[in-house]
Amino acid sequence: MRKMPELPDIYILSKSMNDVLQSRMITGVKVNQEKCLNMTPVKFRNRVRNCKFESIHQRGKWVIAELDSKWSIASNLGMGGEIRLFHEGTKPNPKFHRVVIELDKGDWLGINHWWFGHVHLVPKGDFSSHSQLSKLGPEPLADDFTVDKLKAMLDKKRGRIKSYLLDQSFVAGIGNVYVQDILWYARIHPDRSVNALTPNDIEKLHWAIQQVLKEGIEYGGGLREQDIWGNEGTYIEHRQIGYRTGEPCPECSTIIEEIRVGQTTSYICPHCQV
Ligand SMILES: [Zn+2]
Repeated sequence: MRKMPELPDIYILSKSMNDVLQSRMITGVKVNQEKCLNMTPVKFRNRVRNCKFESIHQRGKWVIAELDSKWSIASNLGMGGEIRLFHEGTKPNPKFHRVVIELDKGDWLGINHWWFGHVHLVPKGDFSSHSQLSKLGPEPLADDFTVDKLKAMLDKKRGRIKSYLLDQSFVAGIGNVYVQDILWYARIHPDRSVNALTPNDIEKLHWAIQQVLKEGIEYGGGLREQDIWGNEGTYIEHRQIGYRTGEPCPECSTIIEEIRVGQTTSYICPHCQV
């Protein structure tokens, strides 16, 4: 099963890219799938050729690679894509590597999207003109994502809490993998209406969001999610209730249930989460 990489997965990938790509020069670009770009391949190539990678970081589910020019390459892997570094002597597969970024010393980056994905060029440090990046909500691990901020964000809101957590314009980076354990740690049912949350619920939720995302990073991300070398994360071995239908709740041993919540599947402990 392929899943969309979420904040911890993209954080791990971005960090591994930052570790090895800083100061590396882009010598060329081959585009095998034009629709994942936001401009023509010629324009894209001309703007990044002879630029060096400056720093790479995660923003929501996006990898932001800042160049030593006025541009950043913003990549979204969609459903289970990958960005891998290959060394001189290996050859890209045109059907698999949608975009190939050639580097100095004959190395290259292969960007693959299993289903859909984006490789966009955006002005460095300014996402205001980008339709998706400009709408992203706050980073949940940022210093200014406080309990009070979350309380203010949820104030006067209606509708189910899970939908807000998955909404990238509400808070960035959470998807249907990590949200399961977030809601379990917070002891909140995914169908619970936001206006039924007490201040104490929101405090627990805030703690759970940060706890689960930090655990995801600690374990190198989730199943099938890879860093630039292809190392897979192990969060799946440490998860609490996500994708554990029929197994006992780690807290109370009640059997974990799989339910539909809106368009998504949820895994809940019917005893702990109300
Ligand atoms: Zn339980």
